[in-house]
Amino acid sequence: MHVNPYYEKLPGNYLFAEIARRVKAYSAAHPDADIIKLGIGDVTRPLAPAVVNAMKKAADEMLAPATFHGYGPDYGYEFLIDAIREKDYAPRGVALAADEVFISDGAKTDTSAIQELFAPDARIAVTDPVYPVYVDSNAMAGRLGDFTDGRWNRLTYLPCNAENGFVPEPPKEPVDVIYLCYPNNPTGTTLTAAQLTPFVEYARKYGALIVYDAAYKAFITSQVPHSIYEVPGAREVAIECCSFSKTAGFTGVRCAYSVIPHEVTGIGGNGQRVELNALWKRRMGSKFNGVSYPVQRAAEAVFSPEGQAQCAEAVRYYRENAALIRRELQTAGYEVFGGVDAPYVWMKTPTDSWAFFDRLLDQAHVVGTPGAGFGPSGEGYFRLTAFNTREKTAQALERIRRL
Ligand code: PLP
Repeated sequence: MHVNPYYEKLPGNYLFAEIARRVKAYSAAHPDADIIKLGIGDVTRPLAPAVVNAMKKAADEMLAPATFHGYGPDYGYEFLIDAIREKDYAPRGVALAADEVFISDGAKTDTSAIQELFAPDARIAVTDPVYPVYVDSNAMAGRLGDFTDGRWNRLTYLPCNAENGFVPEPPKEPVDVIYLCYPNNPTGTTLTAAQLTPFVEYARKYGALIVYDAAYKAFITSQVPHSIYEVPGAREVAIECCSFSKTAGFTGVRCAYSVIPHEVTGIGGNGQRVELNALWKRRMGSKFNGVSYPVQRAAEAVFSPEGQAQCAEAVRYYRENAALIRRELQTAGYEVFGGVDAPYVWMKTPTDSWAFFDRLLDQAHVVGTPGAGFGPSGEGYFRLTAFNTREKTAQALERIRRL
């Protein structure tokens, strides 16, 4: 058995594994260090009572033969799909058919698996810096060429930096797929409808696909789209991935959803148009057996009036943490970005980003994420997350200020 040769081209560790390795080594050498983690994007607030009650009720149903649930529908239960259509999309003027929404166990699952629908030689573009999953999944499939000097030589990078105000330009060369994530991880920045429009126009003009990751849409307070479908013409060229992870604290529960409108097509072997919706159904049928019934009931409860209010409360808590991080960093003289419509604050570092990581760990016992880990344009920046408790966040910022 020969292993997949493309795995051997992957650079070192997955970013967060490398961070965990460094933190573990530091803790082992300094057992008394009280380390505060503002690194990985995991939530800390407990689940909403409405969500847990729904989960318990569904678990009880599993006790009785009449209400027991075995395998569910391949693409998700109708009750959850309808809640998403009616409570999430319809209020924004986006009408979706029931079979355009797919329930899954994570936006990581979906954003990494979607590339299975692309031709082996499809050209990919990502904003840079970027959530590493889009890049790694395409690299594993052999689409990105070789990784040298911190770059894949067959990947189009769309730089987002302080110089361009974190507004990327559409690709200069022809690409088949563009991954966009707004509110953005890692920069915490957003794009307005007017700033997204050139991407939709590019995709329509060149027959490209947009994979839009809206995992952080619950954090939006500014006048920016919550969905790519709020941009005219996007229905024909974009699919959208959403998650309950950050909206409702489901990182350990696991539930997400993707939207694939029927209008979105690719070119088949005979030059005919093929619906990605049909391909995704085919894939789900072969590779996925659904999210558990209690979890889908729990996700449905996120859209109940109590669920909405309780989840919004947790999001507000994180948003206030983000505001605190922004404020404190600015007071300390750092240049900061993002953190208004997102749980991430992106700061400029005085040194290279891994050196800043090591210094912060060593001198402040604070863990963040080096920008270089998110792509070449991430160098010189650093990401702090708002997901820790208020107390720990305040304590971490106090230490950073004293640096
Ligand atoms: N998409 C982005 C941009 C993320 O930052 C994350 C998690 O950090 C995910 C997707 C993963 O979401 P899920 O927990 O639904 O797999």
